[in-house]
Amino acid sequence: MMAANPIAFLDLKASNAQYREALLEACARVIDSGWYIQGQEVSAFEQAFAQYCGSRHAIGVSNGLDALHLILRAMEIGAGDEVIVPSNTYIATWLAVTQAGALPVPVEPDPATYNIDPARLEAAITPRTKAIMAVHLYGQPADMAAVLAIADQYGLKVIEDAAQAHGARYQGRRTGTLAHAAGFSFYPGKNLGALGDAGAVTTDDDVLAERIRMLANYGSRVKYQHALQGYNCRLDELQAALLAVKLPHLDGDIAHRQQIAGFYQRELADLPLVLPTVLSGAEPVWHLYVVQTPRRDALQQALAAAGVGTLIHYPVPPHLQPAYANLGLAAGALPIAEAIHHQVLSLPMGPTLTLEQAALVVAACRDFFAKG
Ligand SMILES: *Cc1c(COP(=O)(O)O)cnc(C)c1O
Repeated sequence: MMAANPIAFLDLKASNAQYREALLEACARVIDSGWYIQGQEVSAFEQAFAQYCGSRHAIGVSNGLDALHLILRAMEIGAGDEVIVPSNTYIATWLAVTQAGALPVPVEPDPATYNIDPARLEAAITPRTKAIMAVHLYGQPADMAAVLAIADQYGLKVIEDAAQAHGARYQGRRTGTLAHAAGFSFYPGKNLGALGDAGAVTTDDDVLAERIRMLANYGSRVKYQHALQGYNCRLDELQAALLAVKLPHLDGDIAHRQQIAGFYQRELADLPLVLPTVLSGAEPVWHLYVVQTPRRDALQQALAAAGVGTLIHYPVPPHLQPAYANLGLAAGALPIAEAIHHQVLSLPMGPTLTLEQAALVVAACRDFFAKG
């Protein structure tokens, strides 16, 4: 079976085309303002995003990696400290920790949810542990009540890596409000995507918010006065204006993703595929719809031949990347993450994917398994 038109894994062009006029208007407004860094557009977006999440503060920053790094710096976590991270995540989670000078200590996921397994946390805690960075992977909130209970017991900070989970709910509350602070990414392919790099930190902590604001802006609150050795990690006016156009549509996009995910869940249920499990109390936003099969590579090839685009999130876990050879975690060190990386495949998912296209994806999967 060959789809008449290829089905993209994610059609970013079509997704942004929906807002073309409003995006152009926002660009014109910024150009004509003569003010391009740290102005009204950033403030307005920060307020809107904080309100959306339900957090006291949102601080616009340059990208998701910087958001996480700035949170660690503002918490004064660095050399000699350990931060617990998931073994199964995008490498940026680990990079934030090593950029801060701390040691990432990986903890394996619950294989059902792909997120950090709270039952494995205590064994990873040492006197040097300062924080747990929980990732809401693929758009599903981590089991935060269990994570926070252990963190409280040991006096640890908890940071959400919410780069894939804007708007997802856990026990009724949105990501960005579930821990001490959260880092968001607005990379173009994320559920809320800029037209370039962008990110944000959310927190209810006034002191932490102020420190992050300063650290992101050369360590300065008042121009030419530098209280901290900061960075340049600012969100710019143009990206903020573009994000402000797209934010009001995020809930509609999430509802659409949920509809596609529900369709996949029903229509693929009888195939020999491991489908996503939703954690009790969680409302995922389906940044990715991930299935598992030992025949992953063959399935991906068959889908490609049928005109269906797929991706692998992720082919190599952080501990097996050459970048982290220094940690000495050889193949076999984190077997759950490694098994996941060998078997996962992300099916097409996005705000402009139609149910008709999703039905063709399902048909192509059925074809593959029918042929044995
Ligand atoms: C995308 C992503 C990041 C990093 O965000 P950038 O904006 O690309 O720096 C961090 N963590 C996770 C889980 C991500 O998916």
